[in-house]
Amino acid sequence: MPADDQPRVYAIAMRQRFRGITERQGVLWRGRAGWTEWSPFLDYDDATAAAWLAAADEAAEQGFPAPVRDRVPVNCTVPAVDPATAHRLVAASGCRTAKVKVAEPGQRLDDDRERVAAVRDALGAAGRVRVDANGGWDVDTAVEALTALDRWDLEYAEQPCPRVEDLAALRVRLAGKGRSVPVAADESIRRAADPYRVAELEAADVAVLKVQPLGGVRACLEIAERIGLPVVVSSALETGVGLAAGLALAAALPELPYACGLNTGPLLTDDPVAAPLRAVDGVMPVPTQDALVLDEAAWSRCAAGVRTAEGWAERLARVRGVLGARDTEGPRDGGAR
Ligand SMILES: [Mg+2]
Repeated sequence: MPADDQPRVYAIAMRQRFRGITERQGVLWRGRAGWTEWSPFLDYDDATAAAWLAAADEAAEQGFPAPVRDRVPVNCTVPAVDPATAHRLVAASGCRTAKVKVAEPGQRLDDDRERVAAVRDALGAAGRVRVDANGGWDVDTAVEALTALDRWDLEYAEQPCPRVEDLAALRVRLAGKGRSVPVAADESIRRAADPYRVAELEAADVAVLKVQPLGGVRACLEIAERIGLPVVVSSALETGVGLAAGLALAAALPELPYACGLNTGPLLTDDPVAAPLRAVDGVMPVPTQDALVLDEAAWSRCAAGVRTAEGWAERLARVRGVLGARDTEGPRDGGAR
């Protein structure tokens, strides 16, 4: 068993394939402030992964800013399943907000229609229904689909089109038709500069922020303040350690008008934290960083094999170099805020 301040590499199977991966990998270690997670996706280059490392260092060394709430409402997610399954998933979740996957390759608008109708039925009029197209529509198709789906009163449409310019054009088109479906940018926000571009192009009504890609909880708080858009906090499919950072952001935001996408723990088949973070009745409690501890029996199931661990150790050393070079050359504020 490694000492807590030594990086531990995990490899945990996913319940469903996501982004083409079936196993989530990353690194956990304990710094002065507590446990942290660094888990950039394997196809990300070192420069991109450096922002994820800045986030991990923040959690390890600085800890999290003071929360203004101790509970965070979260959505359930409905994959591109048949209407009866969708209804059952939503009713069983206890959540008051459901995110429905739409624009699935190989499916038709009627499939989306029936799924959204079933979800609205399961939630009742007081529930909130958002759809997530993962950039699957062009602008014309998005106008047609959202006009049809708004019959079930959509809270917003997440990443209806792939490009920021498309989102901006879609908002103009929807406004011209008198439709009021707000647009949320998710995949369009991957790096720290992206939210400002989304805001500048008036491409979204809502910004989905994730702690690791954007460089940490404090960086996200600054983005939220500067872009002037309501923010939804989502996970990057982390273990309970990374999810706690997402919850810390959601807990520290001055305003939290929407349910967050942080109940993703169940997408992984295991979790090394002693008390896995799960929603109850659509709400997740915000853990203190002290309360976040690893369970050694669970860790032994999650630990990656030797070769995977070596690969991550090399990656961490390389990206540490990238981040260090950035710290010495630019006015980055590591630790100053
Ligand atoms: Mg999304």
